[in-house]
Amino acid sequence: MFLLKLELQGFKTFAQKTTLSFLPPKGGVSPITAVVGPNGSGKSNFSDAIRWVLGEQSLKLLRGKESQDVIFSGSEGRGRSGFAEVSMTFNNEDHTMPIDFSEVTVTRRLYRDGNSEYLLNGSAARLSDIQLLLAQANVGQRSYSVIGQGMVDHILVSSPEERKAFFDDATGVKQFQIKRHESMLKLKRTYENLAEVEMLLTEIEPRLKSLKRQVSRLQEREEVEKKLRDLEQGYFGTMWWQLTDELVGVKEKFSRLDIQVNKETSEVAALVEKVTAMEREEKDKDVQDDGLIVIQKQYNDMQRKRSGFRDEQFKVQKEIEMAKVRAQSNWAPLPLTKIIEGIEGVTLGLKGLREMKDLDAVYAKIDEMLSASTTLVSRLQRPSPEDVVSDPKMIARVVELGEMIAGTETELKTLEESMKTHAVTEKQVRTELFDLQRDLRQKQQAIHLVENQRNAVAIDLARLEERQANLGRDMDEQLKELAGDIRGRRVEIKVDTAATYPEIQRLRYKLELIGGIDPEIVKEFEETNARFSFLDGQVSDLRSAVADTEKIIDELDEEIHKQSEKAFKKINDEFEKYFKMLFGGGSCSLVKMSREEVKKDAEGDDLDEAVAQLGETEKIALRIREREDRIVGIDIQATPPGKKLKALNLLSGGERALTSIALVSAIMAVNPGPFVVLDEVDAALDEANTFRFAGILEELAKLTQFIVITHNRATMEKADVLYGVTMGDDGVSNLLSVNLSDVTSGASARH
Ligand code: ATP
Ligand code: MG
Repeated sequence: MFLLKLELQGFKTFAQKTTLSFLPPKGGVSPITAVVGPNGSGKSNFSDAIRWVLGEQSLKLLRGKESQDVIFSGSEGRGRSGFAEVSMTFNNEDHTMPIDFSEVTVTRRLYRDGNSEYLLNGSAARLSDIQLLLAQANVGQRSYSVIGQGMVDHILVSSPEERKAFFDDATGVKQFQIKRHESMLKLKRTYENLAEVEMLLTEIEPRLKSLKRQVSRLQEREEVEKKLRDLEQGYFGTMWWQLTDELVGVKEKFSRLDIQVNKETSEVAALVEKVTAMEREEKDKDVQDDGLIVIQKQYNDMQRKRSGFRDEQFKVQKEIEMAKVRAQSNWAPLPLTKIIEGIEGVTLGLKGLREMKDLDAVYAKIDEMLSASTTLVSRLQRPSPEDVVSDPKMIARVVELGEMIAGTETELKTLEESMKTHAVTEKQVRTELFDLQRDLRQKQQAIHLVENQRNAVAIDLARLEERQANLGRDMDEQLKELAGDIRGRRVEIKVDTAATYPEIQRLRYKLELIGGIDPEIVKEFEETNARFSFLDGQVSDLRSAVADTEKIIDELDEEIHKQSEKAFKKINDEFEKYFKMLFGGGSCSLVKMSREEVKKDAEGDDLDEAVAQLGETEKIALRIREREDRIVGIDIQATPPGKKLKALNLLSGGERALTSIALVSAIMAVNPGPFVVLDEVDAALDEANTFRFAGILEELAKLTQFIVITHNRATMEKADVLYGVTMGDDGVSNLLSVNLSDVTSGASARH
């Protein structure tokens, strides 16, 4: 690759379009181009143009105060330019620049309004892309591709770190460093994302744990509920169908007795009719009343009375029985908390006994305690029918009615006796009537016996019905719609209801302890869990991205290290060679400086800041630190012949220039760029040294293309092409060219 031409327009003193053409290498040697001309004619503006088109941003190096200062500012005879444009064209037939063009033109353009652009072969391009391309072709932007006027000893006065940057450029590792920088930025971004995601994870984690706990409680609740439901179904099913069967039996019994009562009642009614008819007949026949009629009437009244008493007694008895059934079914188990409370109360009372001195008070307390525990026990178990205390008024009434019934029986017997006495004296008919009446009474007594049985069964029936109704309500409440299934279909499997009931109670209490759980929790758990896994996946993705990027950086570091070590050693050797050549002896060397030696504080770039926010801060910071270059600076030691080793700033102006030239030459020899612009680097040299310098130039021309701005005859003599720069009254630079090796092909740069 070599420089083909340079075109300037509106750049500083080059107001009009000016083109410099360069000759191709001949026999492996690049022709040297010299630019000559009087002071102030614009020679250095020309080197500025090269610096500028390569992307230089430093206004100081461009000798301006603001970026627009590079645009031709006008003169007495000429108006100012609207823009500055510089294009540099390379022959890229050997594809040193990895791009599919055999000619590459890089253009930079700046307008007065501040707009600027970079072009690559006429198409807009990013500066970073152009810089990478140039770095790949070993064109250094900041360093030795363009050595400005008075800048040759710049490398001597710069700090060790600046020198290090210069050497990185010179050792050809720049392109790797650009890639490395991009990777580091990526690493930083990844670290930042990682930190963010990890923070989100730590925020979510506690919530997820609590949700998990709640969801497992919900699962436990579901298990208990299922077990309870199974037990309840067995329990209620068994109970329901036991009662149903019992009811069927009792109902049958009841209807049997009822039929019997009805049948016998109608027989009695027929008998009564017969007796009544006979009585009426007797009355008509024998008007004379011997008192029998009255007795008979009394007898009938007494019988009715007795019936009334019996009915009422049955009614009261039934009421008492029903009250017992109701008391039993209304019993509800005492809640556990109340039981504990009761037991604790009794225990506390017992403890209190120890402190009591008065015996009467102790007895009183014991009585109180006994009654409390009795009450508690009575509330713990379902009362049996005998335990239910019936209404004493009702009991008294039953007894009273019993006595009244017995009274009527006695009365009836007495009346029967007196009827018998009358009958002896009566006629045959009367005897017949009397027999009928006795039959009737006996029959009625028999009916009463059956009626009593039927009534007892009726009470049983009512009791069973009440119990079933209660069971049904309980079932509806506990089993909801499942209760319908139990009613609809006979449950074949019987369970031990007495053993099941406490277990049911235990499970109900357990459910009470677990408490209610919002079904929304499950939804939230699922969502949070999904989010957690997503973020967790992100973390591992980011971690592997970090690992990948770190690997790339490690590889680049290895490459950079290998290449710079090799180049550094060579540069050091060459430096010594050129130094000795220029000084005719002496010694010099380049020394690497570690971070500690440079005394630069290790902390502090923004990458570290991003890293510091991470959980594993130290580890990562350490890993980044480890990846950093240990060598951060370069020191130069130079001792001219016959002198003691001394500080660089004690060298004379010429010595400084010679040392710098030796160093620059060494760098060029080891890692030649495609071209080098030297702006009066030979200005401070004496005549003998000018010749030595010219000799070095000639030697290095085998490696690189020189564009040399000079006032020195010895230097000019080595040039193959000479450009003369002049400036007229209009303040505009003009270019004249003379091809010294082939005068006829000399081209004028004027257009
Ligand atoms: P020397 O031999 O003394 O180094 P030189 O040929 O290198 O001289 P330059 O430094 O290239 O001279 O030219 C400097 C001249 O360019 C100055 O006179 C300066 O006024 C002029 N100049 C710089 N910028 C502009 C601009 N934007 N417009 C017009 N003239 C400018
Ligand atoms: Mg100059």
